[in-house]
Amino acid sequence: MRILMAASEAFPFFKTGGLGDVTGALSRVFARDPDNEVVLFLPRYRDISCPAGLMPQPAPGKFFTPMGGGMEETTLEYSKWENVNVFFINSKRFFDRPGMYRSPSGDYWDNDERFAFFSRAVLEAARFLDFKPEVIHCHDWQTGLLPAYLYTFYGSDPFFNKTATVFTIHNLAYQGMFSKDSLHKIGFSWNEFTAEKLEFYGGLNYMKAALVYSDIITTVSPTYSEEIQYRGDLGHGLDGILRNRSADLSGILNGIDQTIWNPATDTKIFRNYDITSFEEGKKANKLELQKQLGLEVNPDKILAGIVSRMDSQKGLDIVLHIAYEFMNKIQFVALGSGDPGLCEGFRHLVQNHRGCAAFSSDFDEPLAHKIYAASDLFLMPSRFEPCGLSQMIAMRYGALPVVTRTGGLKDTVFHNGIAEECNGYAIDDADDGQLRWMLQQAVKAFDAKKDFQTMIRNAMKGDYSWNHSAEEYLNLYRTAIEKHQN
Ligand code: ADP
Repeated sequence: MRILMAASEAFPFFKTGGLGDVTGALSRVFARDPDNEVVLFLPRYRDISCPAGLMPQPAPGKFFTPMGGGMEETTLEYSKWENVNVFFINSKRFFDRPGMYRSPSGDYWDNDERFAFFSRAVLEAARFLDFKPEVIHCHDWQTGLLPAYLYTFYGSDPFFNKTATVFTIHNLAYQGMFSKDSLHKIGFSWNEFTAEKLEFYGGLNYMKAALVYSDIITTVSPTYSEEIQYRGDLGHGLDGILRNRSADLSGILNGIDQTIWNPATDTKIFRNYDITSFEEGKKANKLELQKQLGLEVNPDKILAGIVSRMDSQKGLDIVLHIAYEFMNKIQFVALGSGDPGLCEGFRHLVQNHRGCAAFSSDFDEPLAHKIYAASDLFLMPSRFEPCGLSQMIAMRYGALPVVTRTGGLKDTVFHNGIAEECNGYAIDDADDGQLRWMLQQAVKAFDAKKDFQTMIRNAMKGDYSWNHSAEEYLNLYRTAIEKHQN
């Protein structure tokens, strides 16, 4: 199958969170099958983090992308990542600046045009490269206009008439909403500014555009696909549209790239280990990280890790509310950037409890690996969680996740009080009292050892690979192609 992936980030080139992990991993998994040809399109942001051998190189030629009233000269860069052909859309005007979506003072003022341009340029680039995709898979609002452009401007273009679209919602809380003043800048006319098409409460909504124009819609876990349709607070105003498209909507659980996230081979951690050697392996990683972060070096302390965007979604404020009650037993190690209030809260915790807590507000891939390997518990009491990758990574590294039963957390972390059947700890709501109680249970189990170790083995045994989900996506692609042709 000829598959075009369009995304605003993909590991190992650009990543701010789970979206980047998923688009990178999925492209790679599909491309391993010789029956598939996979082309991944990304914006060429200025700051790139890939290994030297993958650095994008200029691709010959140029083409023009319609934008508003004019044409943007567009060039491409190219890299080959295993069997994936990766093309980067170059634009001095839109992408040659620090960061991906925002500056330190907030979202970039022209994100409406930046990602409209990207979406349209991908279609022009496919034609320029003579790559006729059978399916275009778009991810999140940044590529939400692509299916709308395809339908509106390329509907009668024979090059694309067999191209189906699949759109994946990675997080419905971010929709790409802009004023209607952007309509002409991004090349649409008032004909498209209707409730059935692009209009959303008097403005534009790129996520909605995708929900209207894509052949098939997916989201990243079965539970989240229900929650966004039937829980008003998680539908974020789009639940009605999602219910209308219920027949075309499904939830496919994300996987993790088990070659990158593997404690037995990970070169970023202090000591490798697997399910047979996790006791010594995790202990060595813990002692070394404690030393490195200036914590009390003591194997009997529970190390509770956090690797996360600092955002109210993640429920970390409730961790801050109760952390000080556990200082004699738990060390809190947090890595994450985002909300200044939450970052300040973690800084305070460290100042007031030296030796018992550590915090870094960087985006630090090597440190993230070290935290997963060293942690006994991994805290993720999210208010909502479309899928969540961190809890799966944590389980693979034998760190028991403490989560809320929502979205993908509910689908991956099982806790019923019988150690043989548990791979972590789960509470119903992001609530101080529930988290306190659950941490108390975890402390008891850690001290008693046996049940805790049984749970670690269960967690490490889990299958978090893409094997099953990639197959589900391919089946959905086939459905989308069929649907598109009818
Ligand atoms: P989300 O996509 O909502 O941010 P996920 O759990 O799906 O959350 O994915 C988070 C990914 O980002 C994981 O791979 C996690 O290790 C990584 N991550 C989050 N914050 C940081 C950070 N500060 N430094 C390094 N990696 C991070």
